[in-house]
Amino acid sequence: MSKTALITGITGQDGYYLSRLLLKHGYRVVGLIPPQRQSNLAKLGDLAGQVEVYSVALTDSAALLEAVEQLRPDEIYNLAAPSFVPASWSDPLGTLDLVTGTATRLLSAVRQVGLATRFYQASSSEMFGQVDQSPQDENTPFRPMNPYAAAKVHAHWTMVHHRQRYGLFACSGILYNHESPLRPPNFVTRKVALAVASIKLGLSDRLEMGNLQAKRDWGYAGDHVEAMWRMLQAKTPEDYVIGTGQLHSVEQLAAAAFACVDLNWAEYVNVDPKLIRTDEHFHLVANPAKAKQNLNWQPQVSFEALIQEMVLKDLERLKSGAVTPAAP
Ligand code: GDP
Repeated sequence: MSKTALITGITGQDGYYLSRLLLKHGYRVVGLIPPQRQSNLAKLGDLAGQVEVYSVALTDSAALLEAVEQLRPDEIYNLAAPSFVPASWSDPLGTLDLVTGTATRLLSAVRQVGLATRFYQASSSEMFGQVDQSPQDENTPFRPMNPYAAAKVHAHWTMVHHRQRYGLFACSGILYNHESPLRPPNFVTRKVALAVASIKLGLSDRLEMGNLQAKRDWGYAGDHVEAMWRMLQAKTPEDYVIGTGQLHSVEQLAAAAFACVDLNWAEYVNVDPKLIRTDEHFHLVANPAKAKQNLNWQPQVSFEALIQEMVLKDLERLKSGAVTPAAP
């Protein structure tokens, strides 16, 4: 009999790649989607017809308990979160309720129903915040620097408590930035990809950016969801740091993206001081040795290949009219 997986946040980037992976492995995939977000299912594109939808508000404990009772999942992947970090300053309480509240409600539903459901919590490198050591691993202390990161730390510890106190098979993947053509354009990788494609097609002539020296550990979303799945197939529930272990600057990102279409980034990129963030930390880089050792996981897609895929996809989308060009 095929396994059932429940996913919160199924209509996001990771939801797409994870659903694709689970369907390939023969799972029945059910997305827990709030009623007002049902229309987002279209974002799953070719997969929309292959996954099931269970309509439920993630803030409704009783409804989530009912969902777990009815669907009896083998695995739950809790991915729902407002992923754009700066936005959490304008709604810290809403962020806490969605991030920590959903994890707590789902974990307690699994405990109450008494199933052997395996639980994945989407943790984030943002939880490390202001770090004293680089790269970071599973023993690095958390020093969250924004409401999003603080909520993720709380959710992480709630998951650990359920594992320790109630013996649940629950794990957390502490994921570094992971990108794909499905990233929304407010993230820098997609912003650059769309701008480069627009410039190449003569639809724009420049790109305004923030701090070019900012650095991130950028991986490919398809690789990172593979790690999530492997965590839940392991013998024991453990937490893992998932990233490439390589830092690249925004300047390197821009250079790689423009090079894909044979253009020189320096001729098109301007720095707009308004886009420079003041509360940043540039030393978040993963030491994924534990995942490599225990899960036999390592990234398959290089930084350059990832950026190329994103630029090519935006060229294709612009040519077909599927997206509008980047504003100059
Ligand atoms: P984050 O790691 O979740 O904040 O992901 P982002 O893609 O939004 O930002 C990655 C890094 O790129 C941050 O250090 C930003 O300060 C930096 N950055 C530089 N210019 C830009 C820009 O124009 N837009 C965005 N979103 N980030 C930029």
